[in-house]
Amino acid sequence: MADPLSASRLKATLVREGCSVREYRDWETHRRPPSTGAFGPINGVMMHHTVTGPGTDVVALIYNGHSSLPGPLSQGCITKSGTVWLTSAGRSNHAGLGDSDVLRAVINESYGDYPPPDNQANTDGNARFYGFECENLGDGEDPWPRVQYVAMVKAAAAVLREYGWTAKSVIAHKEWQPGKVDPRGIDMKTFRRDVAACLALPAGSWGPEQEDSMAITNADADKIATAVLNRDGLIVIPGAPADNPTYTTKYAFTEILKRVDALTAKVDALETTGLTDTQMQAVAEKVADVLAARMES
Ligand SMILES: [Zn+2]
Repeated sequence: MADPLSASRLKATLVREGCSVREYRDWETHRRPPSTGAFGPINGVMMHHTVTGPGTDVVALIYNGHSSLPGPLSQGCITKSGTVWLTSAGRSNHAGLGDSDVLRAVINESYGDYPPPDNQANTDGNARFYGFECENLGDGEDPWPRVQYVAMVKAAAAVLREYGWTAKSVIAHKEWQPGKVDPRGIDMKTFRRDVAACLALPAGSWGPEQEDSMAITNADADKIATAVLNRDGLIVIPGAPADNPTYTTKYAFTEILKRVDALTAKVDALETTGLTDTQMQAVAEKVADVLAARMES
């Protein structure tokens, strides 16, 4: 049984983790009324995106809510500049109804890279999770600045450390409630790996210098995919004529088969090496196998 943290303890643990913390208005007492449900027992932390861009006072929005969803919309709001704004110390409207199998996996901290599929909406998440709303348009294009990402990792780690939990106790809204996609662009396997790295160090000592410089984010993967595929999902072939830089998948495979034929011809031309026809055939087949494997990977 894990009781909610007091407002002062929530703030203290975030500060100790090295977060840049600001307090918004009456956050310590601002909460959903008890008639809307309990707050606790606490089982984990949930990450979100705000679906806001420049020009929106995102902290005010998370504190106040909007016409269809009254605030507070989470306990904390993490801006693009990496500031962790405290907007509530109590029950907030962020998690909605989610999947009891996911909750069980989080409580037991027993799952692989991702929790089980969130295909049920049968459990009150606002009672069970601290929520961090993170400023992002959520369109899959809006980037996550490094300073904001680091603040997100630290904020999640701060709460988990306070309870003595592992990185498996932080999940995304998209892993909790059917139909949700937030925080879009954040791969939770990578996020939990970074939270685990943070938790492995003393509070406040994890930072970008400890990160694996070889790790690629979802945003990086998107950039690579964009370079290889154009808007229509066509493969861009390096060396293709400038006036026709893209081919459909069918053309791409035709091109690859042409190259296999060319290679086969070259292997055939190696007959002067004294290889028998059978050996030559084996080499050609091996080359074709290797190329086929590359095409599939
Ligand atoms: Zn959300």
